[in-house]
Amino acid sequence: MASLPYIVGNWKMNGTRAMLNEARAIDRAAARLPKVQVAVAPPATLIYRTRDSVELIGVGGQDCHVKESGAFTGDISAPMLKDAGADFVIVGHSERRTLHAETSEIVKAKAEAAHSAGLAVIVCVGETEAERDAGSAEAVVGAQVEGSVPGTDGAVDRLTVAYEPVWAIGTGRVPSIDDVAAMHKAIRVKLVAIYGDAGAQVRILYGGSVKADNAAELLAVPEVGGALVGGASLAAESFLAIVGAA
Ligand code: PGA
Repeated sequence: MASLPYIVGNWKMNGTRAMLNEARAIDRAAARLPKVQVAVAPPATLIYRTRDSVELIGVGGQDCHVKESGAFTGDISAPMLKDAGADFVIVGHSERRTLHAETSEIVKAKAEAAHSAGLAVIVCVGETEAERDAGSAEAVVGAQVEGSVPGTDGAVDRLTVAYEPVWAIGTGRVPSIDDVAAMHKAIRVKLVAIYGDAGAQVRILYGGSVKADNAAELLAVPEVGGALVGGASLAAESFLAIVGAA
């Protein structure tokens, strides 16, 4: 994989203006770590201010609507994220799939809306614990990848896939290194089947309880091109320990 490791902090529904200090600290440290690509996805209310507070790191949204504008109270469109200073958006996070009933079809439409608005996209996929126990993890994730990634037109160089087993998110549990390797390999095979050779260039992140003490091991797994970090991204110190491990 030619590209730099990509470490993305997903702040979820956390953070008010005080969090900008964390963003600034992350940004200053990133300047000393040119071999890692670093980004944060703050809540929508902080995107503009975060963009204004940092120089180097990427800033992204955590979701977008499929439409550009309209009567969708409470929603935010991809062009609005772009206008607020976002470079990318996360779509299909398991919390969106579960709590907002987002299907892969919706996730794909969101990814395409984001690309149309000029944003890069991180498409999240991952199996539940029951699906893993039933031996269907690779089939489930494969179907999610196939159903959720954007259509081919110019999509691939602004696409990242994040494998996040649902049961590993916020739980402190992580899959075995062998399971991470097998799933990332399966996702790679799927991406090449979808996009041809270009599918080999798509970065695949691992997410789910990535912490300073497991990051180096996870990031060393073949086909793991970085990490999507939730809880440990909320303080600059713990996030930067992960960035440092990359
Ligand atoms: P976690 O969350 O690092 O807190 O497990 C990861 C995510 O949901 O992206």
